[in-house]
Formats: sequence, C-alpha cells, structure tokens
Amino acid sequence: MIRPTVPAALAAAALVVGPAASATAMPAPQALSMSVLATSDVHGHALNWDYFTDSPYPAGEELGLDRAKTVVDGIRAEKGEESVLLVDNGDSIQGNPLTSYFSSTEPVTESGLDHPMAVASNLMGYDAQVTGNHEYNYGLDMLDYYEQQTDFPVLAANALETATGEPHNDPTTMIERTIDGETVQVGIVGLTNPGSRIWDKKHLEGTIEFEDMVTSAQTYAPQLKEQGADVVIALAHTGKDPAGQQWDASQLQENIATSIATEVPDIDVVVAGHSHQDQPEEVVTQSDGTQALITQPNYWARSVSEVELNLVPDEDGDGFTIDWDDAAPSVTPHYLQGDVAESQEMADAMSSYHEETVDYVNQTIAKASETMSAKTSRYEDTAILDFIGHVMTEKTEEGLAGTDYEDLPVLA
Ligand SMILES: [Zn+2]
Repeated sequence: MIRPTVPAALAAAALVVGPAASATAMPAPQALSMSVLATSDVHGHALNWDYFTDSPYPAGEELGLDRAKTVVDGIRAEKGEESVLLVDNGDSIQGNPLTSYFSSTEPVTESGLDHPMAVASNLMGYDAQVTGNHEYNYGLDMLDYYEQQTDFPVLAANALETATGEPHNDPTTMIERTIDGETVQVGIVGLTNPGSRIWDKKHLEGTIEFEDMVTSAQTYAPQLKEQGADVVIALAHTGKDPAGQQWDASQLQENIATSIATEVPDIDVVVAGHSHQDQPEEVVTQSDGTQALITQPNYWARSVSEVELNLVPDEDGDGFTIDWDDAAPSVTPHYLQGDVAESQEMADAMSSYHEETVDYVNQTIAKASETMSAKTSRYEDTAILDFIGHVMTEKTEEGLAGTDYEDLPVLA
C-alpha cells in the first residue's frame, strides 16, 4: 500500500512531545484520542474535474479525492497515522465519465488496467469501504475486479450469495491500532443498500439476496464486541430514516441509518450516505439508553467528516470505551471548497486515466454545417430536435434489425 509518510522531523517531534509510557513506572491507561475520517458517495470524483464542461469545478464548488487527500494527509501528519482511521461509505466506482469509460467503453476487466478508483482509493489509504448500490452497476465481475485491487477490505455484510447464504464480500473487519502505547481495536461492519435487488436486478437476480441492514448489524456488531472491539463502526450505505418511518425488517427499507444507530446498541458510530445529504453530526439515544453518533459526509467528495473519539479505560480494565460523559464524540466537517490544495500525487496517479477520459468525451463525432439552437425547442419545432429524433430512430431501427420486431414502425 502506498501511504503518505510523515516527515521525519515531525515524527521525531511527536516522539519527544507524545505522552509515551514512562521509563520508570507503567502509568495507568489514560484517555486516548482517535479520529475517524469518512467520505461517501464519491462517484468517481478522484479529481476536481467536470468532464461535461471540460474544466475544473467552479470556484466555491470544488470537490474530489485530490483535495480530500490533502486534508487527510494533514490530519495524519498532525495526529499520527495510528490515531487516524479513514473509511469510505460506498458508491465510488460509478457516477462520472471517468468511471463509465473504464467500466463500459473500455472496461478494465478486458483491458487489464488497474481500476482507476482502486488506484485513487489505495492512494487515499482507506482502511475499509462498504459497497454502495452503485458498486453493483457494472455487475459482480467488475466489483470483484475492483475489490481484488484494493489494499483495504470492501465490506457488505447483508449482500448474501443465493447459493450459499454467505456474504459475497467480507462482512466485517477489525482494525488494530497502537495509540500512546495502548492497543485499540476498531470493529467495522459494512451494510449495503438492499435497494440494489431492484435497481440492479439484471446483475443480481438469482445470485445475490439482501438482508435488512439493521438485522445484519444486530448479528455482526455483538460479534465484533465479543472479538474485542473497543469501538464499533457501521459503514452503512443508507440515508437517515425519513420522518415517520418505522423500522420494518420485512420491507428492506432504503434509508434506515437512524434505526441502525438506535436499534443496535453495540454500534458507536454510523457513517451514513446514499442520500447525498450534508449531515455531519447527530447524536441519538439507543434502545438501551446509551448513545451513538451518525455522520454523513457530503457527496462527490465535497467534504471529509472527522469524528473525534475520546477513549477511556472500560469498566473491566481490559479495553477502552468511548467517553460520552466528559469528552463526548464530536464531528468536524472538512469542506473541500475554496483554498484547499490538490494532491499532486493523486493528479499524477490519475493522469493517464484522466487524459484518456478527456480525449474520449471531447472527440468529434459529427460536424454540423449550420448552427442548430435548442433555445426555442421547448415550444416549437426546431432542427436540433428533429436531428436528435432522426438519430434515435436510426439507431433503434439498427437495434431491431434481425429481430422479431424489425418490421415495427419506429417513431421519435
Ligand atoms: Zn447509493
């Protein structure tokens, strides 16, 4: 895995000032600080580039993993890599011309190129990701190809293979970190959106079945606790529950992040997504009276959520627990608009993919000898709409040729 390195001087400084264990006596474990950074619904936006206008996103609307990387690297340098976790909440490999080009036009599964979002995401140094519904858009072969190239686990506890009843992807992962000389274990469960059974029926019917997200969380979160997790995070590709919705497992509800947080007391943090909302922080009371935090980073890598967790020794003294009393978790949303540097490393890693995509979308496919304006197309017949209609009928007739329907009249 390529990881940003902390400058040597900075690392040395951290050694000097860090609250390292005393040489003379082992002090009692003290409060530890950990940051969980999250992105969601990146949709192919590795770079701050709008392929439709062939230019960077305008001032004030900038986005992208190239900017996110600068923020993440900065936090890692400041806090130390061991104290920082980075997760992504899915819908990464679909959503813009970069991803459609390398999935449909020139599929990486055929060309053998590395998946561009695996390259970008490995450079980010994610620790875990969950599949979003759009991870299934190009079929399981593309998802598997991507997953094989990532340096981190791509999770989905509730997407079960019909043949075996087992999750197609890993359901959970346990991340171990050493912070101030103490071992901290973070359990992560990935919950993908069951709506994929409808939206990607053509790819998934008969192959993958979906379990309700809360139900899967209720299975796996206690297991992670039993395995020694000090903190349990749900990467949940789902928006918050709409007002008035009651959790009903039989409905395989689409937006259920709030219920995941409230109905699964072993979960401490829910990373929400899918609904493309900017909802950095909400603390909810769980069914057993304890608390959990929900964060939803803004979509298209417009922001990085930073969840700060303060950990204190737990009652048994054999691990840590989140301090909800004196230093409760809080979220800093790092917005990527304006004066945020774009990572040159990311630009370099993506340059061949980026240039090939730019060349493709900018190629001339035809030349009009006259200007055809659509300005009045809304209320009168215009040449441009006639032209589009003509192309549509021609292409449809081509598609029907040789089929049972080839004699049907095609109208547009
Ligand atoms: Zn989604």
